[in-house]
Amino acid sequence: MFFHAHPDDEALLTAGTMAMLAAEGHRVVLVVATSGERGQADLEPGEALGAARVAELYRSAAALGCARVVNLGYGDSGLAPGGGIADDRPDNAFIDADTEEAARRLAAILAEEDAHLLTTYDPAGGYGHPDHVQVHRVGARAAEIAGTPIVLEATVNRDPLLRGIRLISRFYPQLDIRAFESAYSPGEAITHRVAVRRFARQKRASMAAHASQATGADTRTLGVMLKVPRPLYRLIFGTEWYVQRGLPPGTKLRHPFEVPSKG
Ligand SMILES: [Zn+2]
Repeated sequence: MFFHAHPDDEALLTAGTMAMLAAEGHRVVLVVATSGERGQADLEPGEALGAARVAELYRSAAALGCARVVNLGYGDSGLAPGGGIADDRPDNAFIDADTEEAARRLAAILAEEDAHLLTTYDPAGGYGHPDHVQVHRVGARAAEIAGTPIVLEATVNRDPLLRGIRLISRFYPQLDIRAFESAYSPGEAITHRVAVRRFARQKRASMAAHASQATGADTRTLGVMLKVPRPLYRLIFGTEWYVQRGLPPGTKLRHPFEVPSKG
């Protein structure tokens, strides 16, 4: 089960792993906390954008071979200008949800699916979106309640990301490199490096499905990513990264279900 904050987060962080596991015959379930109705788009933020983004989510899930999509239906908390928690967030914003209550809802789906694996986010929520931090909290607690054997925090290896961003920023000078310098996880913290180059086509299709987030201003992450030339794209997006808490430092696993060797 892959737990994400908003439609399109799965495309950027875990799409290759999802396509790989589906191709291996696993039942892959995608759960989002919100409809992403406060995302960046040409549509006005609100219900219509939420509905459009959920439709995109289903197209992305189909491209990746998901068996089921669940939307927990919390309000997208949005992001304050310059980052942080927005004052004008909706009443049912995900960050204001009771962690225990939200975790119980997610745990019920984990139990129903008898899930062996849950992915969440690193404690910093990747680049720090409040809803992503909440995914970490809720996901960790839900796995505890349901007794899910494997919990992987989806992240990005900051080291190649920074190299890639610096390269891309030559063509997109408006990209703020500093925003990426403390984001995600340093290479040494990462326990799982999953090679997903074989699933680049599915990952790209997943990204392309989220058209509302990819059009318009060039500064939008997905828009920039989709314009990356194919060979560079394969280089940057050929790997997906995860942190499994409690594994010894230096653990280097290649598959979500690989068992760490003892000693
Ligand atoms: Zn998000």
